[in-house]
Amino acid sequence: MLYYSLHNHEHKVSFKEAVLHGLAPDKGLYFPEKMTPLKDSFYNTIENYSNTEIAYECIKQFVGNAIPETELKQIIDETLSFDFPLIEIEKDIYSLELFHGPTLAFKDVGARFMSRCLSYFNHANAKTIVLVATSGDTGGAVASGFLGVKNTEVVILYPSGKVSEIQELQLTTLGKNITALEVAGTFDDCQEMVKKAFSDTELENLNLTSANSINIARWLPQMFYYFFAYKALKERQKQIVFSCPSGNFGNICAGVMAKRLGLPISHFVAATNANDTVPRFLKNGHYQPNKTIATLSNAMDVSDPSNFARIQELYKNNAENFFQDFTSYPFDDNKALETIKLIYENSQYITEPHGVTGYLGLKKELENKNEAVGIFLETAHPIKFSETVENALDLKLQVPNQLKDLFKKQKVSIKIENYTDFKKFLSL
Ligand SMILES: *Cc1c(COP(=O)(O)O)cnc(C)c1O
Repeated sequence: MLYYSLHNHEHKVSFKEAVLHGLAPDKGLYFPEKMTPLKDSFYNTIENYSNTEIAYECIKQFVGNAIPETELKQIIDETLSFDFPLIEIEKDIYSLELFHGPTLAFKDVGARFMSRCLSYFNHANAKTIVLVATSGDTGGAVASGFLGVKNTEVVILYPSGKVSEIQELQLTTLGKNITALEVAGTFDDCQEMVKKAFSDTELENLNLTSANSINIARWLPQMFYYFFAYKALKERQKQIVFSCPSGNFGNICAGVMAKRLGLPISHFVAATNANDTVPRFLKNGHYQPNKTIATLSNAMDVSDPSNFARIQELYKNNAENFFQDFTSYPFDDNKALETIKLIYENSQYITEPHGVTGYLGLKKELENKNEAVGIFLETAHPIKFSETVENALDLKLQVPNQLKDLFKKQKVSIKIENYTDFKKFLSL
């Protein structure tokens, strides 16, 4: 299997090269050259497959012969070492809880898969430096996924003062091969610096790669849980609508990929916060990112989502199908808070600012699709946004096991202001 750059379809590389480099030299995202739908016999008997077996079926064509079967299955097994419960919180409305991993965020799936692929490829290789820009959750998931992986240094850039306390502790307290750079700026500034480093010829001698969802090894495994949810709901024989709280649009784009593999999903909703570039684009046809706005759902504070280019690629010859499959709605913080309260009052179910945005998108879409069942992705554990959630609901959340020791640890970060500082750090 080869991957081409979205900026130049003639530039093609292997799975391994795409994982090791993250982004193509021309800054284009890598995209699989072809996709083969899985057999009907697989979908007809999916209930007999374990999570690991399902994941193996959907990823194997994308890895090709880059990783042998036994090792790939081992990587998947380690990646999926936690549960993906699907909870019906109202009639026909399900929460797909993706937050049972080590850092309580869905990004654990991609980060764990990618770190293990890199570790496999790095057996003989020189040291790789993994760069990651985070608006909140990526940093922690990547730090945890990559901790102690040999021949790998991880450098995390995060916007100072714009991530929650737990998020900051998760990415600044691990030490070892993990370094956190605290940037005076927004997530988009962080992402810009990472992109710039990749195309900086003076840094060519460093083996840089990215662990953002632009990296195919982080992006593609996010398909897995769409299949798990389908397996759980299959016998209801209803149309399924998925709603994803979206920031960089990697998660929802993986869902669209799952559909390309034949998974029967009838519709996708990309729910955003006030950073509404995509919903505006779908309305008026102009793609015009505004300045990023800080919101309660900070992991979605992205105004120029990288993975939207992949979604456009998936539908490039078929605008009609795109509008049939895909809707996007924005919701502001007030609406999110109000709805966190409402869901708790009606169902005693606790959401948080990201998941609730997905819920809102789902409800809106289902207004005119009353035959369907809906699934929203609950992408983070409410404890990660405890201040917001506890204030809204006037209660105290239980601290899950994964966080018990975190508050005893000491934050360590290096402050930087601009690209020059960043480069100086990398060149040391
Ligand atoms: C990263 C993140 C998102 C957004 O996911 P994308 O793949 O970037 O669209 C949503 N919710 C949470 C909690 C996240 O950490």
